[in-house]
Amino acid sequence: MSLQSAPSPLEQGARRRGTLLVLSAPSGAGKTTLVKALLARDPTLRFSISYTTRPPRPGETDGKDYCFVDRARFQQMVRAGEFLEHAEVFGNFYGTSSAQVESLRAGGHDVLLEIDWQGARQIRANVPDCRTVFILPPSVAELERRLRSRATDSEEVIHRRLSQALDDIAHWAEFDFVVVNAELTEAVDGLIAILGGDSAYLATTTPATAARARALLGQ
Ligand code: 5GP
Repeated sequence: MSLQSAPSPLEQGARRRGTLLVLSAPSGAGKTTLVKALLARDPTLRFSISYTTRPPRPGETDGKDYCFVDRARFQQMVRAGEFLEHAEVFGNFYGTSSAQVESLRAGGHDVLLEIDWQGARQIRANVPDCRTVFILPPSVAELERRLRSRATDSEEVIHRRLSQALDDIAHWAEFDFVVVNAELTEAVDGLIAILGGDSAYLATTTPATAARARALLGQ
């Protein structure tokens, strides 16, 4: 066996373990566009493809947007301990694969989870070195405008979405950071700063951040 082919323990240990970045956002916060822009800006970042029991929407691809599974398979995965977190959201089940996240992080990739606040809570408890970010829309008026721009929805559906979004926003203080998605480039800059560790100005505990979130909630 050639001694040169085997990496030394030092070389093996030199590969940095990737950071786990958890994003949560109410619908209408512009999360999908933000995630796409962030992945385009940071080519080493990897998106964790969740498992879900909800049916695919037009344009979604199995294994790319989500891994679509039936409830029996999902429950089997829960019992086998295959999820780093899982939750029921709007009547469907969603979960993050432990194996997928672990192999990406071990390979040195930062990993992006786009999950709801219940999942973020579980990750915070189980992965102490994660960074959790809540994405806020700039105002309630803008949130409503974005929800209304999906022109096919009835007034009743829009009101239900708005009230669900405000319920989600109520959890902002559980997160490490808050990013306001008013201007896309600035919001992406914020997420890059959080990944780089240079982001104290976005911490949930800063008075400006807290004031902004409270204003949105009318508190
Ligand atoms: P959608 O079905 O519209 O793609 O997502 C609905 C909600 O489920 C969103 O709030 C999204 O963040 C959340 N979600 C997507 N994947 C996961 C996951 O793996 N775990 C959890 N807890 N939530 C998820």
